[in-house]
Amino acid sequence: MRVVRTVAELRDVLRGARGGVGFVPTMGALHEGHLSLIRAARAHHELVVVSIFVNPTQFNDAADLAAYPRSEERDVELAASAGAGVVFAPDAQEMYPEGFATTVSVSGSITRTLEGASRGSTHFDGVATIVAKLLLAVGAEAAYFGAKDAQQVVVVRRMVTDLGIPTRIEVCPTSREESGLARSSRNTRLSPENRSRALAIPRALQSLETAVRAGESRPVALRSLAESILAAEGIAAEYIELVDPETLEPVTDLAAPTLCAVAATVGGVRLIDNTLLVPVK
Ligand code: AMP
Repeated sequence: MRVVRTVAELRDVLRGARGGVGFVPTMGALHEGHLSLIRAARAHHELVVVSIFVNPTQFNDAADLAAYPRSEERDVELAASAGAGVVFAPDAQEMYPEGFATTVSVSGSITRTLEGASRGSTHFDGVATIVAKLLLAVGAEAAYFGAKDAQQVVVVRRMVTDLGIPTRIEVCPTSREESGLARSSRNTRLSPENRSRALAIPRALQSLETAVRAGESRPVALRSLAESILAAEGIAAEYIELVDPETLEPVTDLAAPTLCAVAATVGGVRLIDNTLLVPVK
């Protein structure tokens, strides 16, 4: 396992690599969700590069950035155990050198809605800019992303297509704890009590899946079902949206597979989750 800090070092290491390269971008504090992406990449590529960079420009809240968990030594061990060969862990100066003045901004409704509406337009500017830089630095055949960040996948795909970045984007399913809670680096900040309250989020999503299987197709009814399940644990969602999985436009009727995306803050910890609701024929 090699740990490199600069793009120049990374390019040196990759020049000598034989076979294809797979890439998994992360913000560290690795958990089983990240490891599932690394394993998926390793199944298809000789060499897997994992980046660890807590990207300041995608945080709209300075306290959230400051509280973001960091555990590089452990991350390097975990990444290696899942099959990574290189960890790229640059500092902020490396990614945003003095005088940095370029932003990759994906416009339109895919960045305005959901996380864009909640966290502000600068969130996805930060995401698109850092992902573009990382994809260009690594030059992988494919990069692996989690379905947990469904909107991020839509935005990254748009950006990669528009800029002609020659890296395929692969999506892996959301990894969940046995309780159903979607794995997240932020989960370590939940108290035991809040962790148990947070289970209302996957429970709400499951109830919507059940309701849709039973024939419910009205977004208003589905949203209020989810709201009531969250409210029983004293959780007021930032959003519960039913949208087209590709355009992220709100749907008026579940005639086709529909993404239900939720964001909620539980005990001061902001959590997101989603599921694809597939209507019965
Ligand atoms: P992050 O470190 O949170 O920026 O996430 C890095 C990558 O891991 C992103 O592509 C996420 O979508 C993915 N990821 C995070 N949590 C999970 C999870 N529970 N299951 C699958 N992928 C995940």
